[in-house]
Amino acid sequence: MIADPLVKPEAKSGLRWRNRFAALGPAFHTRLAPTPLPAPYWVGQSRTVADTLCLSNNWLASAEALAAFTGNQSLPGTETLASVYSGHQFGVWAGQLGDGRAMLLGETANGLEVQLKGAGRTPYSRMGDGRAVLRSSIREFLCSEAMHGLGIPTTRALCITGSDAPIRREAIETAAVVTRVAPSFIRFGHFEHFAYNGQHEQLRQLADFVIDNFYPACRSTENFSGNPYAALLEQVSERTAAMVAQWQAVGFCHGVMNTDNMSILGLTIDYGPFQFLDAFNPAHICNHSDTQGRYAYNRQPNIAYWNLFCLGQALLPLIEEQELAIAALESYKRVFPAELEKRMRAKLGLSHSEAGERELVEGILTLLAQDKVDYSIFWRRLSQFAADGQAEPVRDLFLDRAAFDTWLSTYTDRQAQEDAARSAALMRQTNPKFVLRNHLGEQAIQQAREKDFSGVANLLTLLENPFDEHPGFEPQADFPPDWASSIEISCSS
Ligand code: AMP
Ligand code: MG
Repeated sequence: MIADPLVKPEAKSGLRWRNRFAALGPAFHTRLAPTPLPAPYWVGQSRTVADTLCLSNNWLASAEALAAFTGNQSLPGTETLASVYSGHQFGVWAGQLGDGRAMLLGETANGLEVQLKGAGRTPYSRMGDGRAVLRSSIREFLCSEAMHGLGIPTTRALCITGSDAPIRREAIETAAVVTRVAPSFIRFGHFEHFAYNGQHEQLRQLADFVIDNFYPACRSTENFSGNPYAALLEQVSERTAAMVAQWQAVGFCHGVMNTDNMSILGLTIDYGPFQFLDAFNPAHICNHSDTQGRYAYNRQPNIAYWNLFCLGQALLPLIEEQELAIAALESYKRVFPAELEKRMRAKLGLSHSEAGERELVEGILTLLAQDKVDYSIFWRRLSQFAADGQAEPVRDLFLDRAAFDTWLSTYTDRQAQEDAARSAALMRQTNPKFVLRNHLGEQAIQQAREKDFSGVANLLTLLENPFDEHPGFEPQADFPPDWASSIEISCSS
């Protein structure tokens, strides 16, 4: 085997690094070291992410691992850096942003970037302290793994470490560091940065990097007169469309869909004030700071398109012809509805498309909204109905029983054409029993503040396999308590 000159020698962790993003050069990032935190402790670890990185249990239990993932000690072969990007925040050009508290340790030899979030100030911290608090770090850690468990593209989270170092937000809280893992953390905002500053050489370098490493088929496209950058825009549009369709189907609100929070790989990234819907309200706003409701649940599909339009504008110096960029963006309008239909069809346990399907979906969504029915519980109970034919538990969720009965009878007629067992199994694998509701996260956070991290570990177990029954954990699958509606999640994290 020919040795890859970029691969650095093995460390005790077993991790080997090749750091391709670092090799892009200083226009893209600033090399720096994390700022240590005092007396770190483990808050949570994901075994599945550790397996992806081939990290042993032994090493993950070591003082070296704890220090490395807090930013207190560097791992041999890493080239720690903060990257520069810009972006549109809440629809307004915000200029330069960048990794204000995230630091890329490097890229492992098998192509996964490892990043610390909350490891101290960077040249892009602006007024921020470079830190993340325990509360938001637990939310990011759990939600990353919850989304993965749901089959939704996302950045992953390997672990969280905590420290009692005080962090000032609205109140004094404590610090934590999340270790995130993804093939790349490049955002739409990275492209906007170089386009806005007229750095077209770097813009091309970045686009070539993304194409060569993640979208190689763009090089041989026969569409768009063979323009690889238009093909890239199309590919990103399609991935983003597929991702947002999954968000909508599962009832996920991201909360801060700024262009700097949009992944070029179509991954869900930057978990802040996100929420899984409790009662179905299409206009639900999960971010307390989003006073205009720009990022309301039912606006997410249009916002994603708006963000792609910004990406298209940023790529224009490379695509050169506006018509090509517009044509590339068109794919979103084709893929999003098709993906959403596919997801909703699966939620209903239907194996193929037929006339009347749209009415069936729209009909139930209207009723769910009218009666403010719990979104996840409805779909899970409907899955149970498909298995045992007992309509009462689903019916009980509705105030307007007559309207529901009418819908159910149309649905049952359609269901009769399906293989019953297969349909019920499809529904159980599509409609999760467990989602990371705000109050569940909140309970785990309260426990963790008392240094009891079992709540984080237990929730992780449920969320990693959210379609399984997990006997004994019924309360975690139940309706939210009354106090859940008073939880306010803002951008403060
Ligand atoms: P977000 O809204 O979390 O996507 O963050 C927007 C921008 O603010 C990014 O450039 C972040 O790196 C930066 N940022 C957020 N919180 C902090 C913080 N506590 N310290 C430094 N930068 C931050
Ligand atoms: Mg962000």
